[in-house]
Amino acid sequence: MKKAPTTGAPAEGITRKDFLNGLLCSAGAAMLPVTVARALDMGPDATAEEYFLSRGIGQSDPRYYPPALTGMRGSHPGSFEAGHSLRDGARWDDAGAAADTGEHYDLIVVGGGISGLSTAYFFRRLHGPESRILILDNHDDFGGHAKRNEFTAGGKTLIGYGGTQSIEALALYTPEAMGLLRELGIDIKRFEQYYDQSFRTTHGLRTASFFDRGEFGTDALCPEHDSSSYFRLKVDRAQFEAFLARAPLASQAKRDLRRLQFEKVDYLAGKSTAEKIALLKRISVKEFLEKYVRVHPDVLKYYQQRPHGLFGVGIDAVAALSGLWFLPEGVASGLALSGEMFEEMGNEPYIYHFPDGNASIARLLVRSLVPACASGSTMEDIVTARMNYAALDQSASRVRIRLNSTAVRVKHTGDPATADGVDVTYVSAGKAYRARGAKVVLACWNMVIPYLCPEMPQVQRDGLAYCVKVPLVYVTVQVRNWMALKKLGVGTVYCPSSYFSEVNMDFPVSIGDYHYTKRPEDPCLIHLVRTPCKPGLSTKEQHRAGRAELFTTPFATFEQQVHEQLGRMFGPGGFDPARDIQAITINRWPHGYAYDYSTLWDPEWPEDKAPHIVGRQPFGRIAIANADSGAVAETSSAIEQALRACREVLAMPT
Ligand SMILES: Cc1cc2nc3c(=O)[nH]c(=O)nc-3n(C[C@H](O)[C@H](O)[C@H](O)COP(=O)(O)OP(=O)(O)OC[C@H]3O[C@@H](n4cnc5c(N)ncnc54)[C@H](O)[C@@H]3O)c2cc1C
Repeated sequence: MKKAPTTGAPAEGITRKDFLNGLLCSAGAAMLPVTVARALDMGPDATAEEYFLSRGIGQSDPRYYPPALTGMRGSHPGSFEAGHSLRDGARWDDAGAAADTGEHYDLIVVGGGISGLSTAYFFRRLHGPESRILILDNHDDFGGHAKRNEFTAGGKTLIGYGGTQSIEALALYTPEAMGLLRELGIDIKRFEQYYDQSFRTTHGLRTASFFDRGEFGTDALCPEHDSSSYFRLKVDRAQFEAFLARAPLASQAKRDLRRLQFEKVDYLAGKSTAEKIALLKRISVKEFLEKYVRVHPDVLKYYQQRPHGLFGVGIDAVAALSGLWFLPEGVASGLALSGEMFEEMGNEPYIYHFPDGNASIARLLVRSLVPACASGSTMEDIVTARMNYAALDQSASRVRIRLNSTAVRVKHTGDPATADGVDVTYVSAGKAYRARGAKVVLACWNMVIPYLCPEMPQVQRDGLAYCVKVPLVYVTVQVRNWMALKKLGVGTVYCPSSYFSEVNMDFPVSIGDYHYTKRPEDPCLIHLVRTPCKPGLSTKEQHRAGRAELFTTPFATFEQQVHEQLGRMFGPGGFDPARDIQAITINRWPHGYAYDYSTLWDPEWPEDKAPHIVGRQPFGRIAIANADSGAVAETSSAIEQALRACREVLAMPT
């Protein structure tokens, strides 16, 4: 999510991704792949660690290849237990508790997401190519949220994204951040050819809403136009009426939707622009619709999950000002606030997408840091490059990337003001190890840092702990073909009350040797989004409740929900989940998006007093990166913060 624009319009910005929700297209230890688990008779709750152990495969084994694992991925079992033990009081820094690896590095980076990898990239550039760097990450794959999902269908590899979806909101990229992409070989303009922008219209795959019988009395998949004011699309009146005719909504709700769409009404008439903005910052979308627009309750039900993919909560917890982008054109233009708010991002096509999302950025960074891990040199060949994980942590390499390794203590060798190094203790496969860095960058999540460095000043620890990351789940489903979608004429579906709030056919991108499906008879990937939350609570409480839900939801529940929802949505087109679903990857992110402040729930601090600024101050020989430290859930922020942290450690005494 992007930072508040300085235009004086909305205080909470909007970008991207899920709101794009298709229109663009018109424009313990990880669960096993079910098939593998069955073959090994290990059960689908077996962990990746158990899986690898059962086959004697570790990161140094050439067969180690996490992107191809299906089942429970994302923050997979095995990635979080050491961290949770640390939170619950376990300690590994007593004398003798950790084995000394004897390793000394110029820099140790905790966190192998795009921010950690960018930190290593910038450090090497600024400190010199001889720099010795160790990157630690608790997951079995690098990239953090930027994760690759691979599937095999009839000998062909299908590539999907397990998290960070696209390069977006280009205006947020600083020249240095965009420069990094360019240095990695990414030419943004080439996506104009790689992304088949006519695919959805060619195949008649429209956006639609799926009304669920639990909330709306009947299941109904209703193709529609896109009505969000964000894109200022010209609404086709006939299509709009056809949508209303099919939608299981009360007559009054239909009249309201028509009014919202076509009548330019100022629902805050009599207030100045400043007063309107001040009010819209303080009330939720729901309250605005209820009290000022006075809509039928069905309209509220219809919009309830609309902001889920972007905010992780529904209309009850999103400030009205931030929610204007998904309300129909009549509302925003009636309020006369839409100008600059929508202008800034509205013209950017949502096409800057690698088949594995921004995992390609992570892979390009890794290939640049450890050239032996993959062949090739272009943004095209990285897409199909087979990554050799065995090369990532070799003693001969100046940069080493150590996976399945959770940092549990980061401690100066003496007084932080005068120490000449920092010891980093990490846990891997249940054992603790220690390595030393002249400097350390913590490119891990903000809320972990107070546990790693308890000697940080209390005010800094409070700043770091303030952020509550947004939980969300991206599911990638391999289906036998997409004939049902073609028959139904839908490619992108918003689901106001279903378990998954969004169901989208994968982005039509072909790059290098990778080719997107061309025929409805071919296999393809479908992406589903769930953002668990609890309407009625504050955003932070909702995020915590959602995280608790994810912690206790087994793979089998997700699997059953995928089967049920896809069956009910696409069954009328001939889709049979038992026959047509070939594989499922649950990318579970309990600690997902960086927390972006909300005018509804957070005070408005002076810039230098905001918790993320207070929290990210250098401490002795330690600096802090990660998108959290920019309070913006964007790749641009992850890179920008990496550069800042890198400059900070380089300014520290050697
Ligand atoms: C589902 C999803 C979709 C997104 N989509 C987009 C998008 O389309 N475009 C966009 O620009 N941004 C998107 N984002 C935001 C995304 O988070 C950022 O773009 C960026 O990838 C964040 O990178 P990062 O390195 O700062 O954090 P992360 O990717 O979270 O990486 C931090 C890493 O540190 C690890 N770590 C934490 N604690 C420890 C420890 N103690 N020891 C070792 N390792 C540790 C974490 O497990 C993680 O692997 C998305 C985020 C999510 C969750």
